[in-house]
Amino acid sequence: MELDPKKIETAAQKNSMVDLAFSRFLKTQRVQDVDNLVHKIAKEVTAVVDCTACAKCCRALVIAPDYRDVSRLAESVNLETHEFRKKYMRLDSEGDLVMRQRPCPFLRSNRCSVYEARPNLCRRYPYLDEPNFVSSLNRVLRNLHVCPIVFNTYERLKSEYRETRLSQAYLGST
Ligand code: SF4
Ligand code: SF4
Repeated sequence: MELDPKKIETAAQKNSMVDLAFSRFLKTQRVQDVDNLVHKIAKEVTAVVDCTACAKCCRALVIAPDYRDVSRLAESVNLETHEFRKKYMRLDSEGDLVMRQRPCPFLRSNRCSVYEARPNLCRRYPYLDEPNFVSSLNRVLRNLHVCPIVFNTYERLKSEYRETRLSQAYLGST
């Protein structure tokens, strides 16, 4: 398993065409079969990855808390919601409210200082235990260079399907 962030970034860049072709192959498979495999692999990968030694998602991603998140976060840092929005948030180019800073201002020594109040998206990230992996492949591809759990799960998934004739047809076209 690869855990070095620099090597993961390089490999994700190098594999980008193969990874895209493999995502097209996955779309030909039964959703439930892919989900079962992804859930199993992701669980095994997550068990050996130390998120507190990584925290890359908290440094790299722009978080968009919803209104419930904002109210919970504001309370956790003793601010009114309007004060919280003014201090920590901005409107992005699509008119959505997102966190103003990257890395996230609540990241302290690789740990979340508002862990109990963290936004729902932070709780769900990297989403690999959720249903319908196949429908989220664009997001998965975008996260391959960010998250070691996503990268290693996808690598294992490619290995699992490598022997099938159909996957070879897709991967052979790259
Ligand atoms: S979820 Fe992924 S990117 Fe975030 S800290 Fe864990 S391994 Fe790193
Ligand atoms: S709120 Fe916490 S978990 Fe979410 S990005 Fe910030 S530091 Fe990371």
